[in-house]
Amino acid sequence: MSSESCLFCRIVRGEIPARLVAETDRAIAFRDINPQAPVHVLVIPRRHVASLAEATDGEELGALVLLAARVAREEGLEAGGWRTVINTGADGGQTVHHLHLHVLGGRAMRWPPG
Ligand code: AMP
Ligand code: ZN
Repeated sequence: MSSESCLFCRIVRGEIPARLVAETDRAIAFRDINPQAPVHVLVIPRRHVASLAEATDGEELGALVLLAARVAREEGLEAGGWRTVINTGADGGQTVHHLHLHVLGGRAMRWPPG
C-alpha cells in the first residue's frame, strides 16, 4: 500500500474529512468513524508506517502513546480508565494498513477481547 492511496495518509493530508481531536508535529488523533465505545479515538503517526510490525522509530512510537494518554485525559477518561489497542496483521484484526492506536473509554471494557 503506497502512502498515496492510504486512507489514513489521506486524512493526514486533509483529503478525507475527519473529526480531529488533537495533533502534534508527529501524530494526529481523530474520532473513529464506527465507534465501539462512547469515546473511540484513533491516534496515528503523520508518517506512513504500515503496522507495528514495520515500526522502527521509538521516539515516534513514544509520541503516539503519549498522545493517546493526553487524548484520554482530555476526553475525561482519567477517573474511569480506558483501553489502548493496536491491531497488527490479519489475526490481530488490522483492517487499515497505517499504524494506529485505538483509545477506547466511557464504558467498562471486557477481557479477553474477541
Ligand atoms: P483496525 O481494525 O485496527 O485496522 O481499525 C481500523 C479502524 O479505522 C476501524 O475502527 C474503523 O472504524 C476506522 N476507520 C475506517 N475508516 C475511517 C475513517 N474514514 N475515519 C475514521 N475512522 C475510520
Ligand atoms: Zn498511510
